[in-house]
Amino acid sequence: MKIIMLGAPGAGKGTQAKKLAVKYKIPHISTGDIFRLNIKAGTPIGLKAKVYIDQGQLVPDDLVVELVIDRLKQPDCERGYLLDGFPRTIPQAQALDAALDQKNDSIDCAIDVNVPDENIIKRMSGRRACLNCGATYHIEHIPPKKEGICDVCGNDLILREDDKPETVKKRLEVYHKQTQPLIDYYRKKKKLLSVDGTKDMDAVFNNIMKALEA
Ligand code: ADP
Ligand code: ADP
Ligand code: ZN
Repeated sequence: MKIIMLGAPGAGKGTQAKKLAVKYKIPHISTGDIFRLNIKAGTPIGLKAKVYIDQGQLVPDDLVVELVIDRLKQPDCERGYLLDGFPRTIPQAQALDAALDQKNDSIDCAIDVNVPDENIIKRMSGRRACLNCGATYHIEHIPPKKEGICDVCGNDLILREDDKPETVKKRLEVYHKQTQPLIDYYRKKKKLLSVDGTKDMDAVFNNIMKALEA
């Protein structure tokens, strides 16, 4: 199974991708998580990416594409994978298609988790992230067992710098301009599944499962 998660920042792509990865026993590949790990470790990729991420802009295509194509060559990707946060532009989607095409391969589907902008800003200000293991929570909807502490690994939870309302507005603008066109791109290829992302976490998951099994 090779699945792409589409949707605005904060739509719940990561939350659903983690559940699907467990269900299908395939790796969850989040470009945002990869960048945050690189930033934390102070690698050259992290230093380059940080400038864009802090401003709510996209990291340049060439940097992201190389990173993802390399990752897909790892043995754990042989049985499939879930791409979360990639592709985010038409050129990224074309580069992915071209790389798969070389191996006579293609993705199975792109799942659009649809959430209107009004809901996004609220969701993002309540998001709390663990930079150690990548788990995410929501202070109202999906709270950790102990306030401010990751259920999975016990590290402190943070409000991401780029989840503050001003940067979220910028990210939404960038989303509509650069990422939303991918919905049509995959629809034309007959790969698109769309789900209502405003429902609660388990309802969204059930709807995705129904769509995948249809
Ligand atoms: P969210 O989960 O809110 O959608 P991510 O964690 O996926 O955000 O990404 C955080 C930031 O990392 C993005 O705002 C962008 O700057 C950068 N980024 C992640 N994936 C990509 C990508 N495929 N192309 C360009 N930039 C990316
Ligand atoms: P994305 O990866 O698309 O940026 P996340 O999966 O990180 O989005 O979710 C964004 C925020 O919304 C997080 O705080 C998450 O816990 C919360 N969230 C995710 N799915 C739902 C849902 N169905 N209902 C309410 N809150 C949700
Ligand atoms: Zn953790």
